[in-house]
Amino acid sequence: MTDTIIVGAGSAGCVVAARLSADPVHRVLVFESGPVWASAAAIPARLLDPGHLPVGPESAVVWRYPANLVRGRLIGGSGAINGSYFVRPPAVDFAEWSAAAGSRLWSAEAVLPVFAALEADRDFGTAPGHGTHGPVPVQRTTEPAPVSVEFATACAASGFAEIADLNAVSVNQAGVRRGQAPDRNSAAATEVDDGFGRVPLAVSDGRRAGPARTHLYPALARANLTVTGGTTVSRLLLRGSRVVGVRWQRGRERGTAFADRVIVCAGAIESAALLIRSGIGPEPLLRALGIPVVLPAPVGAGCTDHPEIGLEYPGATPTGSTVPLEYVLEWDDLELRPYTPAFSPGLRRLGVALMAPAGRGQLTLVSADPAVPARIDQGYLRERRDRERLRTGARAAAELLRVRTGAIDDAWLRANLGTSQHLSGTCPMGPAGAERAVVDDCGRVHGIEGLIVADLSVVPVPIRRGPQATVLMLAAVIADRHTV
Ligand SMILES: Cc1cc2nc3c(=O)[nH]c(=O)nc-3n(C[C@H](O)[C@H](O)[C@H](O)COP(=O)(O)OP(=O)(O)OC[C@H]3O[C@@H](n4cnc5c(N)ncnc54)[C@H](O)[C@@H]3O)c2cc1C
Repeated sequence: MTDTIIVGAGSAGCVVAARLSADPVHRVLVFESGPVWASAAAIPARLLDPGHLPVGPESAVVWRYPANLVRGRLIGGSGAINGSYFVRPPAVDFAEWSAAAGSRLWSAEAVLPVFAALEADRDFGTAPGHGTHGPVPVQRTTEPAPVSVEFATACAASGFAEIADLNAVSVNQAGVRRGQAPDRNSAAATEVDDGFGRVPLAVSDGRRAGPARTHLYPALARANLTVTGGTTVSRLLLRGSRVVGVRWQRGRERGTAFADRVIVCAGAIESAALLIRSGIGPEPLLRALGIPVVLPAPVGAGCTDHPEIGLEYPGATPTGSTVPLEYVLEWDDLELRPYTPAFSPGLRRLGVALMAPAGRGQLTLVSADPAVPARIDQGYLRERRDRERLRTGARAAAELLRVRTGAIDDAWLRANLGTSQHLSGTCPMGPAGAERAVVDDCGRVHGIEGLIVADLSVVPVPIRRGPQATVLMLAAVIADRHTV
């Protein structure tokens, strides 16, 4: 019998817990900081509405950080509150990822069957590289809202190709360009596909199909799996260079739990914060915070996120959609997102996101107290190349929709800058001794026995798509390396 503690029942944690507990030889205890309902049927209906992101100021199911950063704080994590966009990255990302990790585990060929096994794709399930029997229902909108139709029409009129299936293997694996974009900046070109298409969505029966519903609830009746909600892990318990358990808090209650190993799935922000609070992090930071140094490690350094410029323009409040995003345009390293909800009355919004930014960010703590949020600098707009790409994207977007913006310069970028909420890479993978590596290719923390990180923290390179499909894939791969 192997005892495993999992910290966080978010997107990755749900998958890891479900896969490990499938074998009765594992006893799995999951601590989740947010609410855990007794069954999937008990999840409040408003949290399952894919057209509504419960992240507003009144929301009780999010972690909040400065600069409008939020994360899901409930069973299912950010995957229980997100936009349901479920898309695979292009092959080039896995070439970079496996090179950085020094491992074929993360090559496009190796991860393809994992993506396929995750999904039940209603539209393309029988196509090569797809699946029909996986736990995640995937579908695309059949009756797009007028705002989405207008966008698709404008893309076609500008010469972009329509991509029927944004998760198609021929597109993602071969890296063949299929569309022709106007005003192409060839210097920034990468081997990815250009074109617009309907967004693959993890939705079924009009309800968000997040990882709690698709993975954890179906496993919850197992005798060897316990999920404890409302319980925050404040620190890891270490004996020498071995993890032996965790310290937790639930309201005023405090306690400890012990296990053979701990798998940290608290997300790119909280996983890094937990390691640092436990003495695994940059030595000067640990000393400044008064935290005893267990292991100097580059935790939090060099993370990445997708900056998003919000191009707002007058228009009737969009109607007729059940999800926030129905179409996207992929154009080199840019993604254009015509949102269906109105963010401000009388205004529509087109998001222009940079998907492979050169700028790197940093996560640090300002206090050893777990109640004090981490400080996150995403490194947005720091690199000249990133500013140029976003200016190019914003100008092209304005031209596409015939929107007047005035001068699009750096000040304009700053005034309209937002985030995609896609932080990753705070505990990146790499071979032992590599400058930035915190974990190995299976998520094991270098230098600490029994400690594994399995969530977006470990992705060592920017990925050029929304990360939800990727985080489920990576959790499945890492879990399967630790089932024995
Ligand atoms: C508003 C929003 C919209 C998004 N939309 C999309 C989208 O449409 N498509 C897409 O691809 N991506 C989207 N993303 C990003 C995507 O949802 C996340 O990147 C992904 O779900 C992260 O998975 P994770 O497992 O790394 O972390 P999470 O899913 O955030 O899971 C972390 C879990 O750990 C718990 N936890 C944290 N610390 C502790 C602790 N100390 N003790 C106990 N529990 C703890 C948290 O409560 C949470 O449940 C969105 C993100 C947000 C915030």
